[in-house]
Amino acid sequence: MTYKESYERGKRVLAEAGIDESELDARLLLEHICGTCRNDLLAHGDREVSRQEQEAYLNLLERRGERIPLQYVLGVQDFMGLEFKVNENVLIPRQDTEILVEEALRELHDGMDILDLCTGSGCILISLLRYSNDCTGLGVDLSEGALAVAEENAEKLLSDRQIRFLKSDLFEGVNGVYDRIVSNPPYIPSNVIETLMPEVKEHEPLQALDGGGDGLYFYRKITEQCGNYLKPGGMLYFEIGYDQGEAVSGLLSKAGFREIRVVKDYGGLDRVVSGVRSF
Ligand code: GLN
Repeated sequence: MTYKESYERGKRVLAEAGIDESELDARLLLEHICGTCRNDLLAHGDREVSRQEQEAYLNLLERRGERIPLQYVLGVQDFMGLEFKVNENVLIPRQDTEILVEEALRELHDGMDILDLCTGSGCILISLLRYSNDCTGLGVDLSEGALAVAEENAEKLLSDRQIRFLKSDLFEGVNGVYDRIVSNPPYIPSNVIETLMPEVKEHEPLQALDGGGDGLYFYRKITEQCGNYLKPGGMLYFEIGYDQGEAVSGLLSKAGFREIRVVKDYGGLDRVVSGVRSF
């Protein structure tokens, strides 16, 4: 079968499975198997795809057809221009989360210590360390599966040992004080999870999504407890859901934070809340 025919078949298989972006996904999966790029479909559509490649391709199509997110099937996702390994133990890094990284980078100075709570794939902390000088970081997560992925990503993307990981329920096992605390905690209200698309609710880790009854469980705990772990003048950055700006700013204000800011994402929705510790 030719490259073009394989692609056409892939497209059909995914469309029949009800995948919206069947064309894009069929192409990306085929490129992954054959080590090709976008141009190959146009320029080399008549090249032969080996039987082995065919089988491997069909296998990935089948997995994608089960509504497993494309990124888990490929095993990688780009974030901040870096390629992160992902699997079902970690939330897939979202483009919106780049806003948090960009905001934190604005005020990040050489040699600072950063604490990342609910680190998942490690995408936030690893990016902050990659794009700064001489900073160090501690990434915390409750999930051992997630920490294993984060460790692999750090090994691949950071050149020296600037980073440590710790299995801990938020601050429980954390020692020391930090210049910055960053977190993209689970923030979806429990009863909303059922309404999410199958890729998310059936395949992404529930533990990384569920923010309790009102979605604010982790923001409450972190703002209440962070006083012991954040240096005076240090800054806290949260990613938030589109409708949580007011509630989360309120929590920061109640805890004694100042210079509280709500930053929007490229879709014009509230996405990040930050504040300076002044208590
Ligand atoms: N910090 C990780 C991310 O932003 C994981 C977040 C989470 O598990 N809620 O992708």
